[in-house]
Amino acid sequence: MYPLESLMFRSPARVFAALNAVRTPDQVVPIMGKAVVLGGSVAGLLAARVLSDHAESVVIIDRDDLQASGERPGVPQGTQLHALLPGGFLQLERLFPGFREQALAQGAIEAPPAARRNYLDGRRKVVVPDDADSLAGSRPLLEGLIRQQVLRLPNVKTVTARATGLVCDGAVATGVRCDVGGLPGVESGDLVVDAMGRSSRLSEWLEQAGWSRPVARRMPVHLNYATALFRRREANPELAVVLALHSPGMSSDVAGAAFFAVEDGRWMAMMAGYGENRPGRTADDFVRRLREQFPPEFGEVAGGELLDDVQTYRHADSRRRDFHTLKRFPAGLISVGDAVASFNPVYGQGMTAAALHAACLSAYLRSGPDLGAPARRFFALQKVVVDAAWSTSTSADLALPHVNGPYPRGYRFSSWVSRQIVTATVTDVTTARRFNEVVSMRAHPRSLATPGVILGAVRANRRAR
Ligand SMILES: Cc1cc2nc3c(=O)[nH]c(=O)nc-3n(C[C@H](O)[C@H](O)[C@H](O)COP(=O)(O)OP(=O)(O)OC[C@H]3O[C@@H](n4cnc5c(N)ncnc54)[C@H](O)[C@@H]3O)c2cc1C
Repeated sequence: MYPLESLMFRSPARVFAALNAVRTPDQVVPIMGKAVVLGGSVAGLLAARVLSDHAESVVIIDRDDLQASGERPGVPQGTQLHALLPGGFLQLERLFPGFREQALAQGAIEAPPAARRNYLDGRRKVVVPDDADSLAGSRPLLEGLIRQQVLRLPNVKTVTARATGLVCDGAVATGVRCDVGGLPGVESGDLVVDAMGRSSRLSEWLEQAGWSRPVARRMPVHLNYATALFRRREANPELAVVLALHSPGMSSDVAGAAFFAVEDGRWMAMMAGYGENRPGRTADDFVRRLREQFPPEFGEVAGGELLDDVQTYRHADSRRRDFHTLKRFPAGLISVGDAVASFNPVYGQGMTAAALHAACLSAYLRSGPDLGAPARRFFALQKVVVDAAWSTSTSADLALPHVNGPYPRGYRFSSWVSRQIVTATVTDVTTARRFNEVVSMRAHPRSLATPGVILGAVRANRRAR
């Protein structure tokens, strides 16, 4: 059995480390007949991969046809730049050994530390030579790769339908109501997994079935994204990923920009602004800003042929649903991915968080749980991942001029510490290494709150001055 008990009583930082201890699942323990996964995007697919080890069959229900490839209406954010954090890449390699080679064969671009460049307020950050690798590719490519791997599993199938409600038998969720091409139906299962994204209606369904809805927390961020594709001349560019961020409160109306090498000989470039600032909404504005407001590499990308219209996206808030606090909850039901917590996308956490939720599900199912009881131990593990990602993204967002709380206790001190650490990442490799481990979700944020890290950052900043 997986040592879930030992995980339960460890500190969040150690639980996080255990979830990140990469090993390919080796022990197949079927403990249920059928699992039903609602939503076949990244979180649903990764949950289905884990469930395929523990259920005789897994059915993924999505309102989009998952046999088709490319962008799709159920994932409107799919046109926007998506970073795969090294922490997520590690989890994908764990779930799908050989993922890297298959991704490269289909056009993804390798992004080792030397091929990544970061700027903060126009200053180039040090490279951490032994940092973890990642891959660059468009969102449809990354999702398509994961989908291919999952749909290859003999006990997984997809159904094109819209899930419309929960079916319960007493205190147990036993299935889901669906609309299949206008016809009502029911898909029954021993475990129902909500992976319907940030607009999931599970809370409403729970209420309709006589349960309480989870407490929902929101932090308004009012983020405006714009993404554009440019032709790339080099097949193997020296740089695969370049990011340039502006600190909150800087005079610029652009919060940051990035460009990634993606499949089919293209650059994908993105810029973002907050509140009323919507930089790069037109092609002219996008290209002009890349040339004038960012380091020279951005201008070179913008010098290539623009391949399509600029795609914009408005993201209102970070939000989380605290299922772990519910006193009463049906057995046979869990929720994963953005349906539980979705963050300000500039930190690129969503797909990696979904992969870590899958790691929690794996740990839970390997512990031989009683599926006739609510999955509290799953939600307790998942809370560690959600808290970690939430604290990284919301503590950074609290510094934005248009965000006004709620500020946690000790915020002044913690924001001073964050500023010291972030500033030191420009010049100091040791601080940058620790920081990168946290922002790429390979280490818990608490690993930065040690006297050694803080003093190291303060000293590095003094030296740099
Ligand atoms: C602008 C933007 C940029 C982002 N950038 C990044 C990034 O750089 N890196 C990163 O890791 N993440 C990023 N994300 C987050 C990332 O897109 C998500 O975290 C990721 O897709 C995982 O989400 P999910 O699978 O939980 O839900 P989603 O991707 O939202 O998918 C939900 C699925 O559920 C289906 N569905 C919904 N309702 C029903 C229903 N009633 N019946 C049947 N099916 C249903 C939908 O069709 C869809 O397939 C970004 C998000 C946005 C908005």
